[in-house]
Amino acid sequence: MWEIIESIWSSLAIFLYSLFLHGIILRFLRKKKPNWFINARKHLTLRYFIGTYYGVLGLYFIIRSQRGEDHGIYTDMILDILLILALFGGKSPTLIATLILIAGKLFLTHNYANELIYTFFLMGYFFVITELSQLSISPLQKFLWAKLSILPFAVYYLPHCLEIPLTLTTAYQWIIILGISLASSFLLYQAARFITLSNERIHELEFFSLHDPMTFLANYRAFNQLFLRSFKKARLRRQNLSLVLFDIDFFKQINDTYGHQTGNKVLQELSGLLQGFNFPKHSLLARIGGEEFAILLPKTSGNEALAISEALRLKVREHQFLQKETSLSITISAGIATYTNTNFSNQDLMKEKADEALYQAKQSGRDQVTCSYFLLMT
Ligand code: GH3
Ligand code: MG
Ligand code: MG
Repeated sequence: MWEIIESIWSSLAIFLYSLFLHGIILRFLRKKKPNWFINARKHLTLRYFIGTYYGVLGLYFIIRSQRGEDHGIYTDMILDILLILALFGGKSPTLIATLILIAGKLFLTHNYANELIYTFFLMGYFFVITELSQLSISPLQKFLWAKLSILPFAVYYLPHCLEIPLTLTTAYQWIIILGISLASSFLLYQAARFITLSNERIHELEFFSLHDPMTFLANYRAFNQLFLRSFKKARLRRQNLSLVLFDIDFFKQINDTYGHQTGNKVLQELSGLLQGFNFPKHSLLARIGGEEFAILLPKTSGNEALAISEALRLKVREHQFLQKETSLSITISAGIATYTNTNFSNQDLMKEKADEALYQAKQSGRDQVTCSYFLLMT
């Protein structure tokens, strides 16, 4: 009896530890390798890794289950692995884990006749839980149905595996066993749910602390952080750094004529246009005000920044916005400041100069680009 209780605790602890480790690794990867969550092929590979990770955990449970009378506990844990994976990881990692578990059952154990039945059951369980996970019912309902679907197998498999017959006199033992099974699965389900939800929330908070929710471009905070870092780097390495500030011309008129909602759509479409524009590598694009944007161009001279801004200005000017609805065009004015080793002592001064240049572009009739360098010359 004590062996069984100890096995419940230790297997639960190992499972919970594996869940938390999985959560921490995913959080780290999402930060360091965001592409792995966007690119479909990379994401699928990552999911296969997750399936393998839990498959290996299952192999450990298979090996442990060969020790003695705690066999049933590990059988339950193996099923919980597939249940949690199907509910929170999706079909592909569940498939990988199922295949690993089937291979483990066949090659690591010696009672082939028994294990063959078990492997058929694992396959059946895989189909049941992956189908269940697709249904539009609440996660808790999915969990309960998945647990219920194990009952026929438990009735067939567990009596001889635990050496407790299924009779009226042993009913209380079965109630305890199935109660513990439900409680431990529920604990694992809640832990997986908690880790998944908190990871999603943390990712969302981190993302929107540095991005604008309407255009998904970097926001003013992200721009300031990167501008400071880029400025220090440029000064240290004696490299150029250009800053382009641009603002939509007469945007108020667009709001007044077509409504604020249409104005928002124009801002979103403009952001898409900017993201598709061929900026040099390591450039940063940010929305730093209502209809004001910034482009940070490391290792870029004033002339290069001027050429880039001109090309962008023309591209925006020629673009027909909201073609499906009203179809309108806009123009932008831009101001550029370039750090060239000695001209600015700090990044605030540099931004001030870019602002001045933008103001000058507006004053000179809009739809044009001005360099602060040329302002100094005149
Ligand atoms: P200028 O050429 O001098 O820049 O003229 P402007 O009309 O663009 O400039 P102004 O500063 O007078 O007005 C900016 C307008 O941008 C006012 C405001 O309603 C609008 N705006 C700012 N943020 C948003 C936004 O998020 N959505 C929409 N639809 N409009 C916005
Ligand atoms: Mg404007
Ligand atoms: Mg403005």
